[in-house]
Amino acid sequence: MPFTSTGLRPDVLAAMAAKGYQQPTPVQAQAIPAVLAGHDVLACAPTGSGKTAAFALPLLQRLLETPTPTPKAARALVLVPTRELAVQVGTTLRDVANRLPVGLRVTVVFGGVSINPQMLGLRGGTDVVVATPGRLLDLLDHNALRLDSVHTLVLDEADRLLDTGFADEWARIAQLLPARRQNLLFSATFAPAVQALADGLLREPVRIDVAPVAEAAPDIEQLAISVDTRHRTQLLRHLIDTEHWKRVLVFVATQHAADIVSEKLRKARISAEPFHGGLSQGKRTQVLADFKLSRVRAVVATDLAARGLDITDLPVVVNYDLPRSADDHTHRMGRTGRAGASGLAVSFVCPDTEDHLRLIEKRHGLQLKREVVRGFEPEADDTGVPKCVVPPSAPRGLDPNGGVKGKRPSKKDKLRQVQAQNSNPPGDR
Ligand code: AMP
Repeated sequence: MPFTSTGLRPDVLAAMAAKGYQQPTPVQAQAIPAVLAGHDVLACAPTGSGKTAAFALPLLQRLLETPTPTPKAARALVLVPTRELAVQVGTTLRDVANRLPVGLRVTVVFGGVSINPQMLGLRGGTDVVVATPGRLLDLLDHNALRLDSVHTLVLDEADRLLDTGFADEWARIAQLLPARRQNLLFSATFAPAVQALADGLLREPVRIDVAPVAEAAPDIEQLAISVDTRHRTQLLRHLIDTEHWKRVLVFVATQHAADIVSEKLRKARISAEPFHGGLSQGKRTQVLADFKLSRVRAVVATDLAARGLDITDLPVVVNYDLPRSADDHTHRMGRTGRAGASGLAVSFVCPDTEDHLRLIEKRHGLQLKREVVRGFEPEADDTGVPKCVVPPSAPRGLDPNGGVKGKRPSKKDKLRQVQAQNSNPPGDR
């Protein structure tokens, strides 16, 4: 299906062509006509599927056809779970908006930075506001923004929004929105809590399901390398050097591990930076910009970087620590092999985490060959079984097993359990 069959106007199509998009992705082909027709939409669209343009293009087109905003009011609201995603979605919207003959205002607001410039920016009103929920509520509390003119609401990455304790925030935001509006909900997964949110929000939605990343991007090669825990950093250095990885995103389990591993890489003269929620927003933005401009070769990140981030031309991701869940694995992998490019996803596995990797494989219907790199073979004990060596210097709080699910439930795990229990009728348990 060509873009011309989606119902987009010639000026929006020209903006697409200028971005180099030739054909709509599957989620775009289905969502664009539905949004233009004014329907509510429920889309199960994984990261990397082109979901941002799927709502951004028809949303902007509809805004071109309705009157301009009044002071302090927004005409469309896009709620996103993280600051990074806010910047990314805002960039896509502005990119297209700036190419249109009629100027449309896109305002991006998120926490971790001063609220004053954001309040000033909203004074004259805006066409689209892209917001994280916490900062949106702050702005509403300051009377810097009104939501009574919002005619389209987008919940992007709804599953992640719910992870951040969104339910209470949503109750406050929903009260301020007009009852008559279009609602678009995009989510990578459909956990019961997402379905419950969708049931309460959407009216006769057009339902869209596109294939998960593993199917949609068969070009991601996956590899598991057996290695002792204490040799992972050396192996990582070795692979970056010998495989000539120009840009690599390394996932670890904790903020502390991100700091330590990136420091060790720097000591080995590999430009590396940590990326996690303990850093200031300014630092996080800087690290991503430097990574995209190839000023940094390796970014060592927590799962904060697993979803939503769009880093063009990222050939390799490494699971230094295995992800806690199979879903997290999908999202981490989705950082590479984007927009048709090929990618490599490497998982380090030591005997202690072998069972956990098997669980992830089972969930994805995969069976990865265990490879060994010469010089980094796992040590074997007297019985010939490789043993996993826990680093003697593991700092307090750093889980040497890489925060593997089942070892110790995190706060997030507990929250998910409660949400799952609340959304399952007793008869289903
Ligand atoms: P998203 O899933 O929205 O994060 O988009 C993933 C990547 O696909 C981004 O780099 C987009 O610029 C790119 N993209 C989105 N739509 C298209 C398209 N129709 N053709 C080619 N690339 C696209």
